[in-house]
Amino acid sequence: MDYENFFRAELDGLHREGRYRVFADLERHAGHFPRATYHGAKGPRDVTVWCSNDYLGMGQHPDVLAAMHGALDGCGAGAGGTRNIAGTNHHHVLLERELADLHGKESALLFNSGYMSNWASLSTLASRLPGCVVLTDALNHASMIEGIRHSRAEKHVFAHNDPEDLRRKLKTIDPGRPKLIAFESVYSMDGDIAPIAAFCDIADEFGAMTYIDEVHAVGLYGPRGGGVSEREGLSHRLTVIEGTLAKGFGIMGGYIAASAATCDFIRSFASGFIFSTSLPPALAAGALASIRHLKRSQTERQGQQDRVAAVRARLDIVGIPHLPNPSHIVPVMVGDAVLCKRISDELLERFDIYVQPINYPTVPRGTERLRITPSPMHSDADIDHLIGALTAIWGQVGLKRAA
Ligand SMILES: *Cc1c(COP(=O)(O)O)cnc(C)c1O
Repeated sequence: MDYENFFRAELDGLHREGRYRVFADLERHAGHFPRATYHGAKGPRDVTVWCSNDYLGMGQHPDVLAAMHGALDGCGAGAGGTRNIAGTNHHHVLLERELADLHGKESALLFNSGYMSNWASLSTLASRLPGCVVLTDALNHASMIEGIRHSRAEKHVFAHNDPEDLRRKLKTIDPGRPKLIAFESVYSMDGDIAPIAAFCDIADEFGAMTYIDEVHAVGLYGPRGGGVSEREGLSHRLTVIEGTLAKGFGIMGGYIAASAATCDFIRSFASGFIFSTSLPPALAAGALASIRHLKRSQTERQGQQDRVAAVRARLDIVGIPHLPNPSHIVPVMVGDAVLCKRISDELLERFDIYVQPINYPTVPRGTERLRITPSPMHSDADIDHLIGALTAIWGQVGLKRAA
């Protein structure tokens, strides 16, 4: 086989469909978010980032940077091993305690990313509980899907955010078998939120475990940033709460929070936890500082909600269609991969605005979009500039405007 030719032909297919991924070469500047230097074909220039998942700008927070510098200089660069073999640093232990407290759970367990926490936890639970059946929301994240697939457990996909469909599926399953219901709180592409209480009620009725991915909610929702489950007073009803340290908290790493026995079980059996070098202590120290700050401060959460409302209101005035939802995510709908990429290119080239196009397979074909994530650091002038640019491009490419 001509391997090189095969790879090139596959990539050509992506180009033709307009969904070949081009990474924007960015240099973020601490203290100046959402500004970054874009290193493009025509040399470096300043752009405004409108699609970051560092939702609250905690990646540049002075407390976070100070904690990271302190741990870097104090403990050195790397962790030095897996958690079991020389790689458990005191900063990991403190961070796990903080995360357990954040979610009102007995324990927490750190992973090197949110992806790994989902993959390892779901695959371990579903493969090791004898005869386990997994009920999984149709729009769950790739990391959950891959973890469930790897477990080889029996799987039922229920309609997105649909408690009645979940109930229908549960009724068909032998009541004696262990059951695991997996879903997210905030879905990151449409920005809709799961009916968590209804799912918990059904889980109680059928004796099922619940597993919630709060990746797009931790730091952002709840009085202490404990996610939608905290805001709705439901943390104690969820068996496992999973989150990331990379988005709202601004750094890197993933975790679960659950009972002591659940965390200890996953700690003891999950390959993706056991056999990987633990996070550098500086990352753990930075995450700890970020979580502690967001437990007390409402400033960032309020600032974000204010900016989100402002962007939505301005889009409505100029008639640019966006999906209504109860979260901080503003999906501006384009509905065509090539056009979506072209709009994104024009925003960058002509207006120094960076919003990455979101195409298949991240979203279904025909629902291609620009996913805008306003942060507390976006100014009124930034919003004016964004709306002006979108309005100009919308007219030029002949996309429909709402009434
Ligand atoms: C980003 C994401 C993850 C993975 O988290 P990382 O820390 O970035 O690996 C998990 N779940 C959802 C829903 C996500 O969007």
